[in-house]
Amino acid sequence: MTIAMIGTWRMAETGITPAMAELRAGGSARDALVTAIKAVEDYPYYQSVGYGGLPNAAGVVETDAAYMDGDTFRLGAIAGARDIANPIAVAQALSQEPANNLLVGTGATEYASTRGFELKNMLTERAGQKWEQKRQELASKNLNPYDGHDTVGMVALDAQSRMTVGTSTSGLFMKRTGRVGDSPLPGAGYYVDSTIGVATATGMGEDLMKASLSYETVRLMGTGLSASEALRQAVYPFIDRLTKIGQHPREFSYVALRQDGDWGIATNVEFTFAVAQDDGATQIYIAQPNGDQPDIQLLGRAMDQMRVQALRQIKDKHSQVYKALKPNWKIYHKADPDAKTKHYRFGINESLTDQELIDIGITPFPNLHNAYETYIDIHDALLNSQTERLSNLIKTYRSCGEPMDIAIATLRKNLKGVLNASQTRLSNGPLEGINRKIKALKRSCYGFANQERMFERIYQLIA
Ligand code: ASP
Repeated sequence: MTIAMIGTWRMAETGITPAMAELRAGGSARDALVTAIKAVEDYPYYQSVGYGGLPNAAGVVETDAAYMDGDTFRLGAIAGARDIANPIAVAQALSQEPANNLLVGTGATEYASTRGFELKNMLTERAGQKWEQKRQELASKNLNPYDGHDTVGMVALDAQSRMTVGTSTSGLFMKRTGRVGDSPLPGAGYYVDSTIGVATATGMGEDLMKASLSYETVRLMGTGLSASEALRQAVYPFIDRLTKIGQHPREFSYVALRQDGDWGIATNVEFTFAVAQDDGATQIYIAQPNGDQPDIQLLGRAMDQMRVQALRQIKDKHSQVYKALKPNWKIYHKADPDAKTKHYRFGINESLTDQELIDIGITPFPNLHNAYETYIDIHDALLNSQTERLSNLIKTYRSCGEPMDIAIATLRKNLKGVLNASQTRLSNGPLEGINRKIKALKRSCYGFANQERMFERIYQLIA
């Protein structure tokens, strides 16, 4: 049996902790999901969800939310909705209707009111002040009006292997009246199939809705892929595609969970999220975009030192080998060097592919050659989450020169951690940075009754 919840952004923790208690006591994924998102919606200091969310250009908070049940595929959603205290609860109620499952604007409010859901003005004084300030800034400076946004996307798995997903957001700060993002749109903002798994998104809705990547991730998990691998295959090629056609993709972040408890994330920005499983405490993680593992940095540095050693042995600074090794150092760090497209290479005076250029540099130096191959193999195994291959590569490595030998010895010493890291795309570097900040905060916030009060005070201080 596995029970689990994952939510986007740090704020998700506020909801996951009480909702996991329900799941542990035998509660259903249906109820736990609503408990979790409601807690985030009710918290007045979260600026992008529910009460306290930042308003649209007219100064009105308009919310989008959705709920989907992975056993029945029933789904309900609201968009551009005003005055609904708990959008997620209304979305869940709509999922039970035989028709009219997605309601917008006044239709959503009318439904909530006739069904007895609480109505209230969702604009807090603090959010109103921010709006006023932003309005003045926008009038005087040329700023990006859509700076503030984040969705709480939440997924739940209960002991009966039932899965649910929900989203809730006030969308983009200063959006046009009536603007709707990806969060209420099935397939794009969320998708769940209890026999396979679940995925949900946060980021710039205008980009996230260009492809149904939540659906695609679940479909790929259904072919047997891990959550990380499914996300990797669904999300990154699409971001690359947008880049290639000059669309400049903005923020994309996804979380996914399989029915067996395996989970993963994909992101192109720094992204925090919260995870709780079985009896474990709720963990908050920070993921880096395309986060290279720290292990890779270690090996990359070692390979680089060997490249510099090789350069020192070359007498003729105008030779092809020297030119291939010196100014082109970045190419040696690519996980997948291009072996097809030729570019004219100054200094070498020939058109070569990246791979041909690399070959010119490493062939005369057997040790560098080995170090390079080791780097590429391990990089590839890490990026593809091939834990067993990674373990073999580290264990069977044959000595090829000082810096690389030391780097591999370090990986061997920390083999368990390295293998664990290969299962996610998380970098622990920034986490260490954050730990120091938490320590500093703890020191200066001594004396609060509990953590919630402490955070409340911090939000007041930085408001
Ligand atoms: N996806 C949301 C929207 O576009 C905002 C976010 O998640 O950051 O409305």
